[in-house]
Amino acid sequence: MSARVNVFAGHPLERNAESRDDADWGAAQLADARARFILVADDGRTLYIPAQGGLRLLDAHEQRALAPDVVPTYLGADVGGPLLSLRVDVDRAERVAAELGAKFIDLRGAGMRLPAFDAGLFAYARAYAYWHARTRYCSSCAAPLRLTALGHRALCTNEACAIEHFPRVDPAMIVIVGFGDRCLLGRQATWPEHRYSTLAGFVEPGESLEDAVRREVFEESGVRVGACTYHSSQPWPFPSSLMLGFSAEAIDPTIRLGAELSDARWFDIDDLVRGLAERRLVLPPRVSVSHELIADWLRARSGLELTDLLTDEPWVKPRA
Ligand SMILES: [Zn+2]
Repeated sequence: MSARVNVFAGHPLERNAESRDDADWGAAQLADARARFILVADDGRTLYIPAQGGLRLLDAHEQRALAPDVVPTYLGADVGGPLLSLRVDVDRAERVAAELGAKFIDLRGAGMRLPAFDAGLFAYARAYAYWHARTRYCSSCAAPLRLTALGHRALCTNEACAIEHFPRVDPAMIVIVGFGDRCLLGRQATWPEHRYSTLAGFVEPGESLEDAVRREVFEESGVRVGACTYHSSQPWPFPSSLMLGFSAEAIDPTIRLGAELSDARWFDIDDLVRGLAERRLVLPPRVSVSHELIADWLRARSGLELTDLLTDEPWVKPRA
């Protein structure tokens, strides 16, 4: 079990979920002079200031000047006051960026380069922006939806239907499978050369997480898994997943590749250490729970720190 918090997880914002339906309370949050706004462009990027290494939030004055017509989504509050998000089209985002002297950053970049608070806030805001952009009509009667609860629900405007729609979170599992002193990693044909990762897949209706682990590992690699143990989870809004990390033990290590992977192999400690040193192996970056799964597996069996083996790879250096 990892003691560390995964990137995007553990955000300290007070979400105030119990107050979002209170119209007076909501109006007060939107009118709060201390309110700050994270802008999310429809292409999924936000604004940051490279020299400061953090997000470029808009203050209330800037929001009124640059995006007065955009209905904000309430995210929560910290000691500085309310935090809200603004979803805007790319043209608007470009104009605001130019006005503020800000640059754009995508979520993977933010996960690798920005402080944990900023990266987690962006992941949260981006998940809602994506849901709002793609959930505009009722999936039951096709009438337009109206956002309620400060952006956290959508109500069908057809009074005969009036279904409430909730933000979508798709559970996906990711697993490091061990067999003795080896671990199972695979790669997809479209990945960069030498890149290997832990196996992953979406949970299907009617499955437990453990069922999904066993089915996906078998489908992708032919390996049969016995015991599996929950490790940790991570918001993964690419666009709307929740990654649930597991470790598992194989009961039959025979590999029979399925259609999804171009290769899957058992790696022992030496394969990992030498592969990384000789640049014949590229592992997932620090931003992903896959990295943590491999790091914990390696530490438990060898005492080695994965980050120590990666110090010459600038994109996987731990954040300061
Ligand atoms: Zn409807």
